[in-house]
Amino acid sequence: MTDNRYDVIIIGTGAGGGTLAYHLAPSAKRILILERGDYVPREKANWDPQVVNVDAHYNTKESWLDKDGKELHPHTNYYVGGNTKFYGAALFRLRKEDFGELRHHGGVSPAWPISYDELEPYYTQAENLYQVHGNRGEDPTEPPANSPYPWPAVSHEPRIQQLSDDFARSGLKPFHVPVGVMLDEKNPQKSRCIRCNTCDGFSCLVGAKSDAQVVCIDEAIKHSNVTLLTNSLVKRLETDATGREVKGVVVERNGSLETYSADLVVVSCGAINSAALLLRSANDKHPRGLANSSDVVGRHYMGHTNSVMMAISKCPNPTIFQKTLGVNDFYFGSKDFEYPMGHISFVGKLDAITLKAGAPAIAPNFTLELMAKHSLDFWLTSEDLPDPNNRVTIGRDAKIVLTYTPNNLEAHERLQAKLKQAMKQTNCAIHGHECHQGLFARNLYVGQKIPLAGVAHQNGTIRFGNDPKTSALDANCKTHDLDNLYVVDGSFFPSSAAVNPALTIMANALRVGDHLLGRLGATSARQSRNQELVSTAD
Ligand SMILES: Cc1cc2nc3c(=O)[nH]c(=O)nc-3n(C[C@H](O)[C@H](O)[C@H](O)COP(=O)(O)OP(=O)(O)OC[C@H]3O[C@@H](n4cnc5c(N)ncnc54)[C@H](O)[C@@H]3O)c2cc1C
Ligand code: SF4
Repeated sequence: MTDNRYDVIIIGTGAGGGTLAYHLAPSAKRILILERGDYVPREKANWDPQVVNVDAHYNTKESWLDKDGKELHPHTNYYVGGNTKFYGAALFRLRKEDFGELRHHGGVSPAWPISYDELEPYYTQAENLYQVHGNRGEDPTEPPANSPYPWPAVSHEPRIQQLSDDFARSGLKPFHVPVGVMLDEKNPQKSRCIRCNTCDGFSCLVGAKSDAQVVCIDEAIKHSNVTLLTNSLVKRLETDATGREVKGVVVERNGSLETYSADLVVVSCGAINSAALLLRSANDKHPRGLANSSDVVGRHYMGHTNSVMMAISKCPNPTIFQKTLGVNDFYFGSKDFEYPMGHISFVGKLDAITLKAGAPAIAPNFTLELMAKHSLDFWLTSEDLPDPNNRVTIGRDAKIVLTYTPNNLEAHERLQAKLKQAMKQTNCAIHGHECHQGLFARNLYVGQKIPLAGVAHQNGTIRFGNDPKTSALDANCKTHDLDNLYVVDGSFFPSSAAVNPALTIMANALRVGDHLLGRLGATSARQSRNQELVSTAD
């Protein structure tokens, strides 16, 4: 065995790759993790809204193209931990119904090749691993779970509690959003998380967010059988003469090209970059791109229809950690609209600096500073449907081209209307029903005002399924066309559902991890960990 030969190579360290690395690490198999980025530097600027939201300092400087060939600057991050370094850590399970076929106003959301029940044990493992804080039984659409959340929900601050009470009085069922922050409210002196206002969209300066670096990669590389190479951009995958096996992973590192090989290769570069990598790896045996006999690689790109809606009230909103309240009453529809509409929750508290860059409409008699002090900043998510013409391709100068036409928009407009109606029904003790001045939509991606650049929830580009003609991956996320190539990032989603995707990516990585351990003839990760504990005790 040469130095460049491993049992497993994992490409990417985000929600998918990081979680898989953690799961496989105790197996004693030789594992190489390749990450194009470096660690997020720990610096005061991590928590500076000007640097993070306005200057977009931590976003990649890479440019992609839209369908008309215009440059776009994607709102995405290349670091150890991937986009989880910057995520809001709202860690939701998909609904049980999301795994079946669902009829939407704009078309059909297809069924998954696995059921909710198959993923349930892995959701539980992922919630424990990522220390999710939540309360079961509050969310009316919540799927069945075999165990409670490992931590109680993060409490609402008074303004959000007041809104929750108002919503409940008007007949809604508001709930605490499940979040992965290491907050111990019973023991504040010892709590790693300090409950700050720079969480969603920011990297955590004190390492208290449950991201894939802190929770998974840092743990995985404690094992001597695991090697992490940062600043290592995978350029292409090469196959053997039969085309059935990846035999070389070509990496640009320190200005030159190096080739690594492994029995099993797992791609987890994020849905857009993974599709791009397979397309760029086309060869004689795979002329349309690797693992692409179905021609679905790159297609069915989804990213949710998302919007930020600011409700400006006469009452101030001094909330620090705002992402605690969710409303799913309209997830599957309502009496007046029988189709799914989506999910309502919050973004992190918006501040005047961030608002200035976004230039939203100004509420009457308000300045941006006053708006920021008085706004409730909602996050609305609706499902976008898989359209084969919404796709990733490779364009001029080998750049990524993202072609996307939004769909199922009626659902999102209805959801916005439902929120407006719900806000009218609130009844403030001081200002009555007149407390709320109105709702203003705001472009979240303030650094780059191109909505297409908002690729935070990217998924669907290398879908899994049972039919090799309509999917690129089988139910274990192995490519149908190759024997040793897997994909475990958000690419595998056949439908996007309408809750945040990361927990499903993590749970699926654990599920695929068990399958890979079986293939490697390794003991399960849990068994190995137990053995380690026994030998430490000895
Ligand atoms: C601001 C923001 C807020 C978010 N909030 C939430 C939230 O609250 N809840 C939620 O569920 N989701 C949230 N998300 C989305 C969530 O972060 C993603 O769904 C998740 O990180 C996707 O995981 P992944 O493994 O598919 O890809 P990523 O996490 O993007 O990981 C991909 C990794 O691959 C690396 N890579 C890419 N190409 C290559 C290559 N060629 N060679 C080597 N390495 C490569 C990248 O550098 C990266 O580290 C948010 C995202 C953002 C940006
Ligand atoms: S709220 Fe907690 S986890 Fe989030 S950035 Fe602040 S300290 Fe870190």
